[in-house]
This record gives sequence, C-alpha cells and structure tokens, in this order.
Amino acid sequence: MAKVLCVLYDDPVDGYPTSYARDSLPPIERYPNGQTTPTPSGIDFTPGHLLGSVSGELGLRRFLEERGHTLVVTSDKDGDGSEFDRELVDADVVISQPFWPAYLTAERIAKAEKLKLAITAGIGSDHVDLDAAIEHGVTVAEVTYCNSISVAEHVVMMTLSLVRNYLPSYRTVLDGGWNIADCVARSYDLEAMHVGTVAAGRIGLAVLRRLAPFDVALHYTDRHRLPEHVEDELQLTFHESAADMVPHCDVVTINAPLHPETEGLFDDELIGRMRRGAYLINTARAKICDRDAIGRALRDGRLAGYAGDVWFPQPAPADHPWRTVPHHGMTPHISGSSLSAQARYAAGTREILESWLGGTPIRDEYLIVDQGGLAGTGAHSYSTASGGR
Ligand code: NDP
Repeated sequence: MAKVLCVLYDDPVDGYPTSYARDSLPPIERYPNGQTTPTPSGIDFTPGHLLGSVSGELGLRRFLEERGHTLVVTSDKDGDGSEFDRELVDADVVISQPFWPAYLTAERIAKAEKLKLAITAGIGSDHVDLDAAIEHGVTVAEVTYCNSISVAEHVVMMTLSLVRNYLPSYRTVLDGGWNIADCVARSYDLEAMHVGTVAAGRIGLAVLRRLAPFDVALHYTDRHRLPEHVEDELQLTFHESAADMVPHCDVVTINAPLHPETEGLFDDELIGRMRRGAYLINTARAKICDRDAIGRALRDGRLAGYAGDVWFPQPAPADHPWRTVPHHGMTPHISGSSLSAQARYAAGTREILESWLGGTPIRDEYLIVDQGGLAGTGAHSYSTASGGR
C-alpha cells in the first residue's frame, strides 16, 4: 500500500467555502490540440469547488483510502522540521503544486528512500530537481494542458491592465478620487502594438491566438518553429532568439519552462535591448527574470510595466522587492489555479495515480521524467543541468 504525501496551499483565511459564486463549470472535453481532458475512472469531488487548498485534498481521500492507501495532506512545507520533511521520509508519492511548491531538492530526494513518483498537480515541475529524480529513479509527471488556457487568459488580462493602466485607475476609485488625468497619463491602446512571446507552446500559442483579434503585430521565438499554416494564419514573425525578438516588441510575454536554458534569461543585458516603455509579462517562472534587473528597469523607465504571478521563493516574503517596485501588476501565483483549472488538475492527478497504482502506463503527455531520463513532454520541453533533453 502506498503512502501519498500531498502538499497544498492553505484554506481561505475565513475558512473553507460553504457556497460558491457560480453553480457549475462549462464542460470541456478536449484541449485545443485535440488532447482529451483528464479521464480518471471517476471523481469524488464537485467540479467548481475549491480543491487546491488543504481541505479540498484534490478530492483524493476517498479514492485512496478505499483502496487501502494512506493520504497525508499538509501546507507545512518549508523550514527545518516541516511536516513535509517529516512525512517525506517514508512517502511513496509526493503531490505538489507550483502555486505552493514543495521544493523536492536533491537533498530531500536522497532522504526519501521510498519515493517513486512526484506528481505536479498543475504544470511546471521545476520545483523538483530533475537530475536528482533521474538519478534516483523517481518518475515525475504533471497534468499537461490542465491550466494552459487559464494562464493564457491571465496573460491577456495582465497585458491589457498594464497597457491601459487599469490597476492605478481602479485604485483611484477605491480611494474616492476622480482625477482622470492621473489615470490616463500612463494609459495607451494595445491596438497596433507589437507583442512577442518567448516560447509558443500550449500557453504561448494560446496567448497569440487570444491577442490576434486586438489587431496587434505578433512575434515569437521558440526552440521549434510552429507549422507554417499557423504562422500564416496569425501572421507571426519568428525570431531565432529572445535577444533578436525583444527590440521589435512593445509587449513581451514569457511562456517557457524554467530550466538551465531559460534561468536568468531576462537580465540587464536582455532588458536593455527592449524598447523603452515596453511591458513585460511573466507568468512562466520568476527565475527566468533577474529579480533586481526588473526593479532597475521599472525605475529607469526601460520597462513601463511588469506583471505576472510567479515569484521566488513561494510564498514570496513580505519584503520581496517586486511587491513595491513601481508600475507592477503582480498577483500571487493564481493564474493556473482558477476553480475551472482545479477541477482539471485534480482529475488529472487522480488519473496519474490510477495509472501508477494500477501498473498501467501514465499518459506520455503527462511524463516529465521516467525510467532514468527525461520522457514524454519533459523530453520535448525541458533540459537538465547534466545536459539531457
Ligand atoms: P509547453 O511545454 O506547451 O510549452 C513550452 C514551450 O517552451 C515549448 O514550445 C518549448 O519549446 C519552449 N521552450 C523551452 N525552452 C525554450 C527556450 N530556451 N527558448 C524558447 N522556447 C523554449 O508548456 P506550457 O505552455 O503549457 O507551459 C509553459 C510554462 O508555463 C510551464 O513550464 C510553467 O513553467 C508555466 N506555467 C505557469 C503556470 C502558472 O500558474 N503561472 C501554470 C502552467 C504553466 P519546444 O517544445 O518547441 O522545444
């Protein structure tokens, strides 16, 4: 019987909800590329309910306990002696979320002698040391596509809110004010701007598709070029690298995984190549940007705005400089954890568990590391420090 250790974010400060703003979620059976949404044999939760926090338990307790497995759920993941560290020692499976990542470092993986499977209930497994997982034979899987569209919507929202100066204008209303000049002195139209994405995978391409109707010029860079018919349909300009692309863009959105190739990519030098007054949206991973270079660029006007929802570490400390830099539109890490997304990643987590516990293959598109190497989606989109792809 397996011990499953699940690390989730805390419940709402006022307690687990007893009612919701909406009664149901619109059903989605397939993602834009035709991949089916998760197909577990059943679910023990109500789609649209809060599943990603501790009391939601990703809807897994009944499923696991009826089959004789043990489920431990905690939000206590950091610092010496955390519940995560204590329970990890004899856990077979760890489930964690990028929004509240239980960092599975090489040291932790070495101590977790029984660990065989690390599931990301979401997308982005950079909180797991993939080299160590490969070395120790740990399978790493994530729920590919579960929240890609959720993030793409967040990127569109943040792009518009920065360019149109929404948040300071909303603040004016909250403060009882009406100074229109204050609100519009930094407000522009997105129309006719040049928008570029670093990476055009599931999220990046969805962002391009959603922004196309705004009559902007679209650019992208990626390790692999999109099919010609997609480039033609969206009238995309391809660039060999981010360095080549950013001088042409008024808005840059980052949609690449964090791995050795992308860590620290947006440093003083790359940001220095951006147009003065460009906007940068990063919902991918914080460490793709140099934290202090972002602050410098916002203060000296190279960047007119920075927004996103990814921080390092998470939770971000109260004195994290991005909380107080000028012209930012940051949220906590929420874009991929809407109630809509939660229903999909909870079902996907159960699907992965059903496969693994039942001894059947995990869907290839969910795999990041398997059988001692990058696998499935991981083999396509990630690299490792030791050079593996
Ligand atoms: P995909 O795997 O579909 O797309 C990632 C793309 O990045 C691929 O096209 C890949 O290229 C490309 N890429 C990888 N390395 C580079 C590089 N060095 N330069 C340019 N392009 C690169 O993933 P998703 O679109 O679904 O997600 C992307 C990332 O977004 C995730 O890894 C995660 O970090 C983040 N994310 C954030 C969420 C949030 O809540 N904020 C939620 C979900 C994801 P190719 O495959 O062509 O080699």
